[in-house]
Order: sequence, then structure tokens, then C-alpha cells
Amino acid sequence: MPIYEYTCKDCGHEFEELVFSLDALPPCPQCGSERTEKLMSACAAKVDGGSPGLGDRPVPGGGCNTGG
Ligand SMILES: [Zn+2]
Repeated sequence: MPIYEYTCKDCGHEFEELVFSLDALPPCPQCGSERTEKLMSACAAKVDGGSPGLGDRPVPGGGCNTGG
């Protein structure tokens, strides 16, 4: 069962959730909001939805660091 990382658009809480359906987003466990968004892989080289010309703009909450 794949586990994906999500972030809440309302409170910014990040959490991991088992994925049963790629079409359904899990609600935020902290504030209960359904406005969550699935995060891409931490080491993803491609950034979708970004405007051209930003260059090496750091990604908030991103990075390839492991552990914690
Ligand atoms: Zn939340």
C-alpha cells in the first residue's frame, strides 16, 4: 500500500496517508479541512505549475533530506 505525503491548504499541516484511491484526497487530521494537496516526490526534478523564469527557486517544505 503506497503512502503519500499531503499538505493542508488551510492550516499548512503536513501528513502522510495510505492511498486507497488516487482520486480521493484525505482530510486534514489536524483541522479536518478537505482542502488538502498531494505532495510530489521530495527529489522530483520537475516542478509543475511553476512560472518560467523563476530559476533555482527553493521549494517550500521540499528537499532531499532523509530522516528527520
Ligand atoms: Zn489543516
